[in-house]
This record gives sequence, C-alpha cells and structure tokens, in this order.
Amino acid sequence: MLMKIGLIADIHSNLAAFKAVLKDMPRVNELICIGDLVGYAAEPNEVVELARSKRVRAVMGNHDYAAVTRDVRGFNPIAARAALWTADNLSRENLEYLSNLPTRLKLKYGGQNLYVVHGSPRDPLNEYVFPDTPNRVLAELVRDLDANIVVFGHTHMPTRRVIYGKLIVNPGGVGQPRDRDHRASYAILILGEEADASYHRVEYDIKDTAQKIRDAGLPSELATRLFFGW
Ligand code: ZN
Repeated sequence: MLMKIGLIADIHSNLAAFKAVLKDMPRVNELICIGDLVGYAAEPNEVVELARSKRVRAVMGNHDYAAVTRDVRGFNPIAARAALWTADNLSRENLEYLSNLPTRLKLKYGGQNLYVVHGSPRDPLNEYVFPDTPNRVLAELVRDLDANIVVFGHTHMPTRRVIYGKLIVNPGGVGQPRDRDHRASYAILILGEEADASYHRVEYDIKDTAQKIRDAGLPSELATRLFFGW
C-alpha cells in the first residue's frame, strides 16, 4: 500500500503560510511537523491550535524550546526578542503542549523506518544540517541510525540527498523560507516498496503576516525578510 506523509517544518507562528500549505497539500495519511511551530511571527496560539486540531505529529524545535523555557542562549537579539514575546503570549495550554513534544520521532510504515529530528541526531535542537553539509559529516550523523529515511528541519532550506542508501529530506520552511524563494515550502513523502519525496511551494498572503508582526511590536526585520525568502 502506498502511504503519503506530509512534511512541514519551521512554521514559526505564520498562520497564513500554514493555512496555505494545508490547502495546497494533497490528501495524506499523516502530517509530521519537524519542529519550530512558533517563534518569529505573531500568531503562535493560532498555529499551535491548528496543528493540534489537524493531529500533526510534531517534534520540538529550538524556538519551541525557547518559548517554553525562556532560555534564549545562542539566539541573535532579534530571534531572542521574538522568542520572549512568544513565551509571554502563548496560552498556558499551548505552552504545555509544546513542552511535551519529543525531541525525536522514530516511526515505522511497513518496511520503511523514519527518523525525524529538528536539528541533527546528535544535537536535536541546535545543529544545522545544510544542503551543502559535506557528505563526510552527513554520513557520520546518519550512518548508525536504524532508519532508511531521515527527516530534518531547522535550516529552512529544502534538501534531498541520499547517503548510505538512506533518503535525507528537509521539506524547507513553511513560515520563513530561507532559500531566496518567498513561497511557503513543504514536502510529501511517498512510501511504497521504495521511498521518495516530492517538494512543493505555495504562495500565501505575506502582507497579512508582515502586518501582524509589525502590529504586535515584533522586530520589523522579521516582517521584511519574508518578502525576500530570507
Ligand atoms: Zn526554524
């Protein structure tokens, strides 16, 4: 049987982008969020509630962690301001939900084994696996995982690589793409005898998200960058 799994990452409180992705996505058997539901934009509660209502399976990202703990070490000043704003504005129930997210998910679909983590297997919240991370480093990270599909987020850059027969997928960023394409990014995993992924981009109402960021008093750079896909 063919399984389709929707992969979404780095939504970052951008409700318009999240809704546009859900509308564009074909029917899937499961939706997985690879971390960072919140941080940066102005609708953290709306995004968390939509994810919960869609029964998204999520792992924790570094911004989810910062919102829960108020620990912003390692964040630049703009990201830190947004993280603390998010911590102040999340409902108690949504904070509770985020604090209970696992840092890793290991899932099995027929003969396919998935490993899902926001950053990297050895540093689930903070290490970046970039599209141009050297093969040698990538090999070290995934070699010993008992999985033939490894899914990362965190870089906000869509990635598809194959190493040691393992398919490596990063769906890119829903709410703050950073590959100079302003459109929201997501991927679909297609699991049958083989595994593959398709990548998708969706226009959304950036002006609406940008206005809400400014109205909330969040740093205006967080609004501007959305138009540039960076
Ligand atoms: Zn992120």
